[in-house]
Amino acid sequence: MKRDYYEVLGVGKNAPADEIKKAYRKLAMQYHPDRNPGNPEAEERFKESAEAYEVLSNEDKRRRYDQFGHDGLRGGDSQGFSDINDIFSRFGDVGGAFGGSIFDEVFGGGRQSRRRPGSGTPGSDLKLQVTLTLEEIATGVEKTLKVKRTVPCETCSGKGAKKGSTPATCSVCKGTGELRQVSRSLFGQFVNVVACTNCGGEGTVIRDPCATCGGDGRVPGERTVKVKIPAGAGDGNYIPLQGQGNAGRRGGQAGDLIVYIKEEEHAHFVRDNENVLYDLFLSYPDLVLGTEVDVPTLGGKAMLKVPAGTPSGQMFRMRDKGIPRLNGSGRGDQIVRISVFVPTSLSSKERDAIRELHAFSGVQPKEERPKKGFFGKVFDAFS
Ligand SMILES: [Zn+2]
Ligand SMILES: [Zn+2]
Repeated sequence: MKRDYYEVLGVGKNAPADEIKKAYRKLAMQYHPDRNPGNPEAEERFKESAEAYEVLSNEDKRRRYDQFGHDGLRGGDSQGFSDINDIFSRFGDVGGAFGGSIFDEVFGGGRQSRRRPGSGTPGSDLKLQVTLTLEEIATGVEKTLKVKRTVPCETCSGKGAKKGSTPATCSVCKGTGELRQVSRSLFGQFVNVVACTNCGGEGTVIRDPCATCGGDGRVPGERTVKVKIPAGAGDGNYIPLQGQGNAGRRGGQAGDLIVYIKEEEHAHFVRDNENVLYDLFLSYPDLVLGTEVDVPTLGGKAMLKVPAGTPSGQMFRMRDKGIPRLNGSGRGDQIVRISVFVPTSLSSKERDAIRELHAFSGVQPKEERPKKGFFGKVFDAFS
């Protein structure tokens, strides 16, 4: 079970934004991976507090969480963090909101400053969309994706240097990958640290580039990737696949592949979170006399009993015929809305029979209205 976000940060439900930020900063410092190398429990706490902060620091997400709990956040961008680097890149992005990312303030730089010279340049992330049918969403599915991405060059094993040659230490930065620029101003002297322009921050230069990749260490390619999509996923959910993005330059770490989920519109069903809505048209005699109908559901046909005297607009709930909840707590229902089918083309014999029926007073609307009209019944069905 997921812990309550307020409990994770150790703040009250009414804590103001600055208190939340302060509480998170304290935890992030305490559990930061640089201070707890090889401690999986600290890493978990670090991720957990980042997730809690991500939600509680956002007015809209916090409101949804207050109202619906963890269920209110199944919009895709609050599934937690699978990777520490996600946290650095996420909170490095918010920049303006804090006037500098929270990690700039606390640790002096996010992901970029964690790069070590000589380890190449990390590859970029790729985004890909998969379209799923409601049936696939109801059962969960494994998809095989062909991904066009850069891959490490085989000739030079991704190093970028010609076989037999090795990269030389950059003479400008002496291998540190950084240049210090001193500037003077009214307020004194400032030291700016920037990436070395000679080696691009890598600390090494390649004199004899590999002929296949031109010294980049990677070439255009294609990879087949399998991705498991859990039952209950939906529009906007995404699955990050670590290391399946573009290869890094000169042996750098590969980026991630982010698989976004898109839901295909269904011919008969409308999805409402974990529930599935279905419109069922029945003849007037069926509604008056009652009937049993085979109704399509995501798992095949299922029998629905329509009692005699069912009014048009009535809703029926078919339990557990909906979509599994992402958090694993059961599944939704299928809601069937009954409408009377009104024929528009009739034979003269059929028309006569309906005229005859029309003459009976029993089929006419009565003066006294039922206690609850259409809307009362709709609300009953969902209460
Ligand atoms: Zn090469
Ligand atoms: Zn250099």
